Amino acid sequence: MPHADVIVIGSGAMGAAAAAALAGRGAAVLALDRFGVPHDRGSSHGATRLIRRAYFEHPDYVPLLHEAYRGWRDLEAASETRLLVPCGLLLGGLPGSEAVAGALHAAALHRLDVERLPAVEAAARWPEIRLDDDWIAVWEPGAGYLLVEECIRAFAALARRRGARLEAGVTVQAWRAGPDGVAVETDRGSFHADRLVITPGAWAEHLVRLPRIPFRVLRKSLFWYRPPPAAAAAFAAGRLPCFAFDTPAGFHYGFPALDADGVKIAEHSGGATVADPLSVDRGLDAAEEAGVAAVARARLPRLGHDLVRHAACLYTMTPDAHFVIGLHPDAPRVAVAAGFSGHGFKFASAVGPILADLALEGRSHAPIGFLAPGRFDAAADRRPRG
Ligand SMILES: Cc1cc2nc3c(=O)[nH]c(=O)nc-3n(C[C@H](O)[C@H](O)[C@H](O)COP(=O)(O)OP(=O)(O)OC[C@H]3O[C@@H](n4cnc5c(N)ncnc54)[C@H](O)[C@@H]3O)c2cc1C
Repeated sequence: MPHADVIVIGSGAMGAAAAAALAGRGAAVLALDRFGVPHDRGSSHGATRLIRRAYFEHPDYVPLLHEAYRGWRDLEAASETRLLVPCGLLLGGLPGSEAVAGALHAAALHRLDVERLPAVEAAARWPEIRLDDDWIAVWEPGAGYLLVEECIRAFAALARRRGARLEAGVTVQAWRAGPDGVAVETDRGSFHADRLVITPGAWAEHLVRLPRIPFRVLRKSLFWYRPPPAAAAAFAAGRLPCFAFDTPAGFHYGFPALDADGVKIAEHSGGATVADPLSVDRGLDAAEEAGVAAVARARLPRLGHDLVRHAACLYTMTPDAHFVIGLHPDAPRVAVAAGFSGHGFKFASAVGPILADLALEGRSHAPIGFLAPGRFDAAADRRPRG
């Protein structure tokens, strides 16, 4: 094998984006993945992902989101493919809803284009979506969805065009970093490079080696409901926006119908812990489906209950539900992007260039301090011992 400047472990959302960014800066890149590019065994499948800027999880993500939007537009131009559809997002919840309050807070702080509406006005504008009268609605017109598999294909194709090698069917078993470079052991032999980027998705616990960050993998289900023919046009992309409801029953969200599969709905809250991501049960969970169907009945009453597809996908949670992006505290030749906690995909187009900065220059000027791997060390050191 010829020498690589940088090895990337994982060619999912973050790995494919990193490979494209690294190769774009002239690095010789080798990206390794156990599965194909893309595939449906990790965290990056199921047709669509939300993208939005009024970020209720933490307003510090907003500058990264501006970068991410630019990155997706650049990728669309490079791939001549439509990847981001800004159909808008209607978020609804009670006035005390953390998501509603957080979205409005981020929007005010960063002067984002967001409207706060009473529920009755939202009902008049989007008649297929039913919010309770005492709810508040937040409308973000620039939000929308990304076509998840197309995005990964586009990054992988761009990386290859720029000279990167993406090898599928290679399982990484271990890595080590020394003063002269890195070595990666796989089921297909050893690979060597100057630098390493680790983007392992649900396999973070084993590969990232940050003992103070207990990554927890959750199984999440996606459900597609086909509307009755008389209502099909009203639920189609172009008419229905993306939607999200923060209620005491959980946080649910969904997408307009892109094709005959219909409207996709999922629950962001909850989820069963997964011991081994390789052997997760991908069957239909009737209780989960009943919960999502109840939300659909209450909030999208004309949708009906024709379940045509379901899928299982994996969240990789950190203790604070924020990402881990930075140089490995024990190995400065190694950059890590992990623990995307169920909301990372939209950032991949920003994370790729950040990983390229970290791997090639040893630092990034992007505002990622709040995502540093070391933040958990400080918390652990403050905890009383004994
Ligand atoms: C149901 C669901 C809904 C979501 N909704 C949204 C949303 O609306 N908006 C949003 O922004 N985000 C959303 N997310 C989160 C987002 O999809 C993830 O944060 C993102 O896809 C994670 O990308 P990743 O590169 O970390 O993981 P992945 O894309 O899974 O990539 C990790 C890769 O590493 C490879 N790998 C791991 N271990 C090894 C090994 N030992 N050897 C070789 N290869 C290895 C895997 O095969 C995999 O390809 C959602 C996630 C799920 C599951």
